[in-house]
Amino acid sequence: MFLGKILKLGSTLAFRLTLWYAGIFAVCSCVAFLLFYTLITSVLQERIDQELLGQAQRFSALLATEGIEAVNNSAVIEAQAAGVKKVFFRLLNLTGDAFSSSNMSYWKDIGVNVGAIEPLLRSSGPVFETVVIPNRSEQVRILYARLSPTIIVQIGQALESQSRFVEAFKRIFIITMSVLIFLAAGVGWFMARRAVSGVEAVTRTAQMISGGSLQERVPVKPRGDEIDQLATTFNQMLDRIQTLLTEIKEMTDNIAHDLRSPIARIRGIAEVTLTTSKSLSEYENMAASTIEDCDRLLDMINTMLLISKTEAGVEKLSREEVDIAALIRKACELFQPIAEDKDVRLAYRPPEETFLLGDTRMLQRMLSNILDNAVKYTSPGGKVEVSLTKSKSGDAIVSVSDTGVGISEADLLHIFERFYRCDRSRSQPGTGLGLSLARALARAHGGDITVTSTVNQGSIFTITLPKSAPSA
Ligand code: ADP
Repeated sequence: MFLGKILKLGSTLAFRLTLWYAGIFAVCSCVAFLLFYTLITSVLQERIDQELLGQAQRFSALLATEGIEAVNNSAVIEAQAAGVKKVFFRLLNLTGDAFSSSNMSYWKDIGVNVGAIEPLLRSSGPVFETVVIPNRSEQVRILYARLSPTIIVQIGQALESQSRFVEAFKRIFIITMSVLIFLAAGVGWFMARRAVSGVEAVTRTAQMISGGSLQERVPVKPRGDEIDQLATTFNQMLDRIQTLLTEIKEMTDNIAHDLRSPIARIRGIAEVTLTTSKSLSEYENMAASTIEDCDRLLDMINTMLLISKTEAGVEKLSREEVDIAALIRKACELFQPIAEDKDVRLAYRPPEETFLLGDTRMLQRMLSNILDNAVKYTSPGGKVEVSLTKSKSGDAIVSVSDTGVGISEADLLHIFERFYRCDRSRSQPGTGLGLSLARALARAHGGDITVTSTVNQGSIFTITLPKSAPSA
């Protein structure tokens, strides 16, 4: 159980971030310590070397002025003054044999390194070496220097104080480092927890949503950092999904509603045909009615499919040169008899040719839907006007205005949704798919449809189509 918790903790991002933080901190501190350590030891050694060299120079000067005896005496006195465990002197001939020395009882294990004397004989500079005293693990720094053409001095100085300093330095470093790494891990843990707590909130919300609570949202703090941006985007995505789900639900309700009536009718006809005997002409009428209902259903299903494919960009539109002015003229000619039947005046002011790249069949369908609505929702005695202009950038702007029933502000927000029909137009035949398809087709051509309307005064539908539709 406890082990399981530890293992789970080990796999968390916060734990790994903390490890990284503490690890990087420890490595950086060690590198800094090594640099500092190397610097300090080399400075200390440099200082000792300078002291040894100064001593040799003083002996050399003494030898030149007062002779070997004076050097000998001075060496003995200085060794005593510094402490016999700290410094020693040996005077050597060129073969490395000692002919005089300070008190060597403490240093008897340290001999003469003939290898160090050889470079001196070749008259190069003084020679330094660091030697570990056998069995005592104590270090001593030794200088070999020539006092005269025939005399060499060996001066040794214990590195005890330097070693003590370095030891103390190491101890302080280890204690300080342990405390600092512990603190760094604490700070790292705090920072990592702070950073991932937002992600955890998103995960928690996602879990609640997968459990069915679609209305849950991630709490957003006003910090505006990346996590808050993630939370905001996540919430926006949820809003969008919820809207889509509501729309899908409404759509399925509408589909169910719209499919139910014709199917029920078809079923009723089939039942009557089975259970009662009718005359041939009555059977013919029932068959015709069934075909009509089936056509309506098929048309609805095909339109739904076409809208979905067009919106998804699956329906491939051709890109041919279309004279939109001619297309509008033809559409108006087609609707003229219907408008006349209804006593609606359909006016069209034909402009000069206006070419654009697009799919003739689909553009025709889009125009028909808009014109059909304009005529359908305009009462007898009213007027529908179609015009075509060009924008500065060369886009074609088709405007279809009518003096019909108009659309309320609330309905304007929904009329392009699939199956949406305003209450006041339910007396008219229709499926509520015409405008959805028209807008999907306009958008697939890189354009759009907008509408302005006043209830009981009329509506204006404006279709914008760019000169060249975007390639699929
Ligand atoms: P429908 O098959 O019902 O005409 P549409 O998608 O073409 O479906 O239109 C959706 C709704 O928008 C219509 O039911 C109608 O209420 C409203 N509408 C569309 N065009 C007009 C118009 N020119 N005047 C008034 N209302 C309109």
